[in-house]
Amino acid sequence: MQDIETIWKQVLEKLELRISSVSYMLWIKTIKPLEIDENDNVILVAQSVTAKNQILRNFLDKIDECFKEITGRNFKISILDQNEEIEYLKNNKVDEKNTSKNEEKPPFKEKFTFDNFVVGKSNQFVYAAARTVAEHPGKRYNPLFIYGGVGLGKTHLLHAIGNYLHEFSPNLKIMYVTCEQFTNDYIASLYSPSKNKSIMEFRGKYRNLDVLMVDDIQFISRGKETQEEFFHTFNELIMNNKQIIICSDRPPKDIETLEDRLRSRFSSGLIHDIQAPDIETRIAILHKKSQLEKYYAEDEVINYIAERVDSNIRELEGKLSEVYFLATLNGKKVATMEEAREIFTKEPNKEEIKNDVNPDKIISTVCDYFNIGYQDIIGKKKNKEVVEPRMIAIYLISELLNLPLVNIGKIFGGRDHTTIMHSRDKITDELKTNKKIQNVVSDIKGML
Ligand code: ADP
Ligand code: MG
Repeated sequence: MQDIETIWKQVLEKLELRISSVSYMLWIKTIKPLEIDENDNVILVAQSVTAKNQILRNFLDKIDECFKEITGRNFKISILDQNEEIEYLKNNKVDEKNTSKNEEKPPFKEKFTFDNFVVGKSNQFVYAAARTVAEHPGKRYNPLFIYGGVGLGKTHLLHAIGNYLHEFSPNLKIMYVTCEQFTNDYIASLYSPSKNKSIMEFRGKYRNLDVLMVDDIQFISRGKETQEEFFHTFNELIMNNKQIIICSDRPPKDIETLEDRLRSRFSSGLIHDIQAPDIETRIAILHKKSQLEKYYAEDEVINYIAERVDSNIRELEGKLSEVYFLATLNGKKVATMEEAREIFTKEPNKEEIKNDVNPDKIISTVCDYFNIGYQDIIGKKKNKEVVEPRMIAIYLISELLNLPLVNIGKIFGGRDHTTIMHSRDKITDELKTNKKIQNVVSDIKGML
């Protein structure tokens, strides 16, 4: 079907001959053709309400007639005034939005954007590098290797790059995987019954990308096959100017399991670390989170939290949410110092705890608290009575002692570090909203 502009031009030519020139100039020529759709609806916009009424009263039949003569079809013609036009556009935009919702959602956390990332001294260079890579993938800093401690925003930045690319370069093929996923994916293809085909598929998936992001590379296993595969994936992508971004909790030289050739590949681009935020940045982050998550808190509360949590942003946020939820329990809409003090005094200072606390003591204390056996908590049982205490013990050990996950896994009967990570993160998440868990954790900390 022709577009509305083209048809309207022809309609105008006809109308001009059939309507007095004054009327034509006043009411017809000023009409804006807006849309014609598959259901033969024509939408025209009059310049004013008066114009609309004039047209409806005196010219609609003629307009109708002309459309029919030109196209041979019966149209349903609607005349809108300008306010109605705005309404119409709004509704149509809503439709567009609804349809785009059906599109595949990007696999990136919506809130992990550049806009939501607070930039300070501790992370400004990494931020700039990530931003450059998002704006010019494959052109500079390739690979980009970001390292830094737990909860300092590495994953946030990877997702921010993903979200940015998804918005501004929607045609690029982007993949975010944890090292774990990459490894599992590869191993699954190795052990698949149709091995050759699965490996081809695996390579098709990882080597035809424009951007590959691998998170937590420190968990790369010593397995020769996986490292070899990763090495070739890496080379293939870099050779074709495809962007690679890697995150780790430590620099390549300190990842013991990493083969030398990969280590040197990782070092061929830009390596940057992300450091613990200073107090100004922590305050800014808390303000941002308070806005984003609607955790309202007085400024004094924000400063109070920022002063007390200094090395992990995940924990910083966690405290803000704890304080806010306590405030809501107290029937307040905005958290005050009363709640902040309560949350922090309930909790003995980490440094004080550290001195005489060890994994064994934490586990025994958790066992006492829940009245369960030591062997049960470190063993394989999966019943409800032990699963949650086990996760809490894991969380506490990782939180209070900062032991590597792999070591914690060993303590818990040789569990995989991903299982440990999952438990830790589960409780961290629960602590944000679950009052019961908040109490349990702070009680146990008190007992320690
Ligand atoms: P990492 O991957 O380094 O362990 P994450 O990226 O998961 O850390 O960050 C932990 C939490 O801290 C996330 O909720 C993230 O949004 C937040 N965060 C980290 N750095 C910043 C920052 N600079 N601005 C705002 N939020 C941040
Ligand atoms: Mg991370």
